[in-house]
Amino acid sequence: VISEAAEALSVDAYVIGGFVRDHILERGEPKDIDIVAIGSGIELAKKVSELLPDKPKVQVFKNFGTAMLRSEDHEIEFVGARMESYRSDSRKPIVEDGSLEDDQNRRDFTINALALKLNKDGFGDLLDPFNGYDDLKQRIIRTPLDPDITYSDDPLRMYRAIRFASQLNFMIEAESLKAIKRNKDRIKIISKERILDELNKILLSDKPSKGLALLFKTGLLKKILPELTALQGIDEKDGQKHKDNFWHTLEVVDNISENTNDLWLRWAALLHDIGKAPTKKFHKKIGWTFHGHEFVGAKMVFKLFKRLRLPLNDKMKFVQKMVLLSSRPIAIVDDNVTDSAVRRLVFDAGDHIEDLMILCEADITTKNPKRFKKYHS
Ligand code: ATP
Repeated sequence: VISEAAEALSVDAYVIGGFVRDHILERGEPKDIDIVAIGSGIELAKKVSELLPDKPKVQVFKNFGTAMLRSEDHEIEFVGARMESYRSDSRKPIVEDGSLEDDQNRRDFTINALALKLNKDGFGDLLDPFNGYDDLKQRIIRTPLDPDITYSDDPLRMYRAIRFASQLNFMIEAESLKAIKRNKDRIKIISKERILDELNKILLSDKPSKGLALLFKTGLLKKILPELTALQGIDEKDGQKHKDNFWHTLEVVDNISENTNDLWLRWAALLHDIGKAPTKKFHKKIGWTFHGHEFVGAKMVFKLFKRLRLPLNDKMKFVQKMVLLSSRPIAIVDDNVTDSAVRRLVFDAGDHIEDLMILCEADITTKNPKRFKKYHS
């Protein structure tokens, strides 16, 4: 239909970006479809609606020169090809009309710059000026232009690079990774909400540790979650060491991701040990302790959610509760304590006992799977 509409208006039209990428990767049928017209995207959207049997409503965003319509399960966005330039204090570009190449130049990664022609003449031709197809096959995230410029222009792209690496299990090309480290301070011009969107997508990927480790190594994690990076490191005193609670946390997040897609339970896994940095002490007789870390951690969850403008509602309370309770089953297994302690835990967990079990299994199995079996029974 889009092809017919493009013919009727005599404009060139292309499907571009995520749809083409996911189609080539065979990641299932993508829901969002981005269309670029060499001309007016809004007129093309209106024509497409006219030709569709159900004549869907076209939402026009005049200020952006874009239009959107929903058809069947798809959200289709139309835009006129454009050229963008940036100022140093904002990620909002100055926009002018442009060619398909200009439009591909403004894309963040080579794998997101692929376009398929939709006009009759040349239907299905792949327009790939930056060898994005090869990068898809070799599973590489690379910027079309100089990475320092790409990331400095719109620093959110640093988070997007890591998010795509985590979601697709791709590598970030070496120069690009170095550029992220160099440009990490630019992230300050990005709103917390946008960063959180990307962080949530990383947490929802199959193996979140991939993205979280990249965020850590590039210095971006410290900017958004310093409480978490404070867990990194091992101290040694009188020949006694404690475990590295940061890398342990990433293991727990991966473990839990095998058993749940619940974003908030994954957040609970990410934060389950955050009270350990401020409570760490060394006692001559008992060695390293983190006494009371669960209470301190639960308070930290509140502050952290507030700072990141995450919902301060039942989601936050749920994460807090998990952080508060999650260390108890481990203590129970360690100490072989009484039935009443177990009953108390089950009572305190209330409706969330299953969630707590999933979290504790993820935590305990990083140390000793047999212990979880014992606790489970
Ligand atoms: P997903 O739907 O999984 O988030 P996507 O690639 O469709 O993946 P969108 O955020 O919907 O992601 O963006 C659509 C397309 O717009 C991208 O494929 C890319 O070409 C372009 N794009 C999006 N954000 C940026 C950005 N910050 N800088 C440059 N290009 C971008």
